[in-house]
Amino acid sequence: MMNASSDFVRDAIVGLTSTSSGLARIEGWNIVVDTERNPNHVAVIAGGGAGHEPAHGGYVGDGMLGAAVVGEVYTSPSVDAVLTAIRAVAGPAGVLLIIKNYTGDRLNFGLAAEIARGEGVNVEIVVVADDVALPRGGKVGARGLAGVVFVHKVAGAAASRGRPLDVVTRWAKLTAESVATMGVALSAGTVPAAGVPNFDLGEDEIEWGLGIHGEPGLERSALLSANDIAKRLTHQVVTEGKVRAGEKVALLINGLGATPPCELDIVAGEIVKAVTERGIDIERVWTGNFLTALDTHGCSVSVLKLSDGMTELLDAITHAPAWPGSSVRNVPSKIAVVPRPDDPADLRDEQFHAMSTTDSLLFLSLKAAAQAMLDAEVPLTELDRIVGDGDLGTSLARGARSIFAQLSHVESPFSVSKLLRDIGAKIRETVGGTSGPLYSIMFLRAASYLDGRDTLTAIDWAQAFSAAVDGVQTVGGAVPGDCTMLDALLPASIKLARELEQNAEPLEAFTNALNVAKEGTAATVDIRASLGRSSYIGERAVGHVDPGAYAVTLWMEAVHDVLQTAATTGPSASNERRLNP
Ligand code: ADP
Ligand code: MG
Repeated sequence: MMNASSDFVRDAIVGLTSTSSGLARIEGWNIVVDTERNPNHVAVIAGGGAGHEPAHGGYVGDGMLGAAVVGEVYTSPSVDAVLTAIRAVAGPAGVLLIIKNYTGDRLNFGLAAEIARGEGVNVEIVVVADDVALPRGGKVGARGLAGVVFVHKVAGAAASRGRPLDVVTRWAKLTAESVATMGVALSAGTVPAAGVPNFDLGEDEIEWGLGIHGEPGLERSALLSANDIAKRLTHQVVTEGKVRAGEKVALLINGLGATPPCELDIVAGEIVKAVTERGIDIERVWTGNFLTALDTHGCSVSVLKLSDGMTELLDAITHAPAWPGSSVRNVPSKIAVVPRPDDPADLRDEQFHAMSTTDSLLFLSLKAAAQAMLDAEVPLTELDRIVGDGDLGTSLARGARSIFAQLSHVESPFSVSKLLRDIGAKIRETVGGTSGPLYSIMFLRAASYLDGRDTLTAIDWAQAFSAAVDGVQTVGGAVPGDCTMLDALLPASIKLARELEQNAEPLEAFTNALNVAKEGTAATVDIRASLGRSSYIGERAVGHVDPGAYAVTLWMEAVHDVLQTAATTGPSASNERRLNP
């Protein structure tokens, strides 16, 4: 989302300064300054090309930067831009420039410093070259990557304590020398003016050791698991950063701009594990987007060897909007897992309807219904993908597996209501989404209904079914016509109960109930869903049956087959002819 690509950088700075009290833009320049800074403190200035947000504008604020100078995307700011920033914030204590090691930045910041010194300002420069992916040494040296953010933090905190320029510079240098970074990417970012990614990666390829300007890295490989990626990154930064077991470090697990936070959390967990396994003591760890490369999908890991006093500076409060607050949380959890709470004792005085597993219609029906859900996983998922979010098949298959698991524990004779209640609890535990709790309440309500009965007639089962459907209405809040599974369940439960009350044969009554469930499901094709996920897509759902209602007809069909077989075969089945298990 942008306006003209030529205004990309300015508009981003306008956005930052419009949303952060104390931050302002110097008129006519892409420079962010702290309007509340103490003029007697050393002014720490950082900068470089844009595209690395929240670096560097987001780090302006007391305790970090006094100003950030921003160039065009991936382009060093001009000498005059840097000079303007220096003039804007320089005071008697002098100025520290923190830059990343790129030729353009060295030249523009270097020349600006030179001119400012001629104007009587005390200026120091610290160059950060934390990349350890590529061999170090050589004439140009390593590139500057996300480790620079640690340098801002430490130097900024020292400046904010009123330390003189030489001390602030020493902290910055020490931090820069103690940090090692390496990145990996699954896809390259897109420079707005170019409109296409900087380099192309195949579906299953990753780029190791890339820079932050879309420059390719040292090597390409097949996509690995988060665990293997973390291990390799950890190995490289720890070895090249010369961190030994027993030493204290801070970690920065940095998203490159298009990495979902949950993915970054996965990598972070693996990194913490890999670093800890090496016997290294993680004192602080931060995860987030600290220094990005536009919309690059990937991350970098920085390891900072901590010297005495450094942690305190990392922990110091800053007003910079992009630095995450509370440091007390940025410590690996000492207790990362706590035991689950015990289930309360079951105080219900439940009726024990003893049943044998071999000739129970309930048992056979549950199996058949669960099998139907396993068989229909793919089509249900596909249907839910069209009108919803595509998880129904998976959810119901998970529910089916937990029913099978419950049934396998059951010994003859068993208690009907306990089995139903246990299945409801298991579904509640394992199936999420909307259908999870709704099916769970169905089992629970049916179990409660059956609890108090001393006989189990066909009508009792029909009433238990009605109670279950009533539970769906209470919890789900849907009414018939809302295009949900209720459109199948409600007519079916009403039909079943009514026909049995009028003395219909149980099998016939169930057949008719199944038929009205199918009619109700068919009707959902034309209704616009007003509840459930489909409601968000409105007209797009028209033309497709509601997946939840369709699932109901499938398991009812399976139960119907069981009842039909029982009604037509074997002497053992004849005992149950009246659906009276
Ligand atoms: P989601 O992915 O939307 O959380 P699921 O995929 O688990 O839900 O289930 C989708 C089905 O749930 C729908 O097809 C619909 O039949 C049913 N459903 C949605 N909302 C309700 C509701 N309020 N009451 C009854 N059934 C509902
Ligand atoms: Mg769904």
